[in-house]
Amino acid sequence: MEKSSSLDKVVGKVSEEEKKKIFDTFKTRFETTDIPKLKELEREKTPEERQMLREINEATNAIRRKFGLEDFDIPEENIHVIPKENWATEGETAVSLPELQTILLRERERGIHFAESAFHEAIHFKSYNAVQKLTDCDKVVSYRHGLRIWPRSQEKRNSLPSGDPLSYFADLNEAVTEELTRQYIMIQKENPLYKKDFDETKEIKEEALKKGEYKLLLDQEIFSLFKDPGDETIRYAKFAYPAERFSLFQIRNDLFQKNRDLFKSSEEVLDVFARAMFTGNMMELAHLMEKTFGKGTMRAVGTP
Ligand SMILES: [Zn+2]
Repeated sequence: MEKSSSLDKVVGKVSEEEKKKIFDTFKTRFETTDIPKLKELEREKTPEERQMLREINEATNAIRRKFGLEDFDIPEENIHVIPKENWATEGETAVSLPELQTILLRERERGIHFAESAFHEAIHFKSYNAVQKLTDCDKVVSYRHGLRIWPRSQEKRNSLPSGDPLSYFADLNEAVTEELTRQYIMIQKENPLYKKDFDETKEIKEEALKKGEYKLLLDQEIFSLFKDPGDETIRYAKFAYPAERFSLFQIRNDLFQKNRDLFKSSEEVLDVFARAMFTGNMMELAHLMEKTFGKGTMRAVGTP
């Protein structure tokens, strides 16, 4: 079945008719890109940004194809660029709203920063997505988003003192998503779209070296150095979720070292995580984890 929205599956006690209704609702949201309130907040995309989004659609489709899935394009209209002054939350640079089938990107200082946010959100959007009808009430809520999983009962979902719904593997899901993003950004150096950004970074690196600002040079998480007009302060952009990616790196490395017969590289281990995230099939990953680290490991890794 060709995808008509980001939704892949509806689980829980639902009739075929109800299931179809839920899929239709998501399809309508996917096709409705004129969201009145957003129209006032967003700005037009530049021709460069539109080209970046086309290339990101293609690169993320290539990942889907690698895992045996069909292409799934995110129309440009479902992605909204919000100028800084209209962006409410501090720190965050992008938000996915699956319930609206929409991605919001905060305007960024450079094209390569924009690409980092856009690629990360595109991966979330194109990962496996399932909703559930809760067993103890009528609500339709998230069940799976990539590797992230929510409990099936309302009571368990609401068991966190913070009031946020309980979910598992949220950190792992972000780590795999941002690791794929990092890999994409690191191979853009020759891309004409980002050439001036990487040239600027290179230039500022030389300046930082002269000034002895080694922190900026040695930090592997920094992918871009830049300056604001009329200001000599060196600013930087970093990849997201460093702690979560470090944990993923350690697990990957352990799995690779202990299963040399199965994998040629730790890159192939990352594929096991990414395949589960895109296809929704956790069996291969769960089996590998339990076989390597013992029974109950998956539960331990996923518990918040
Ligand atoms: Zn994310």
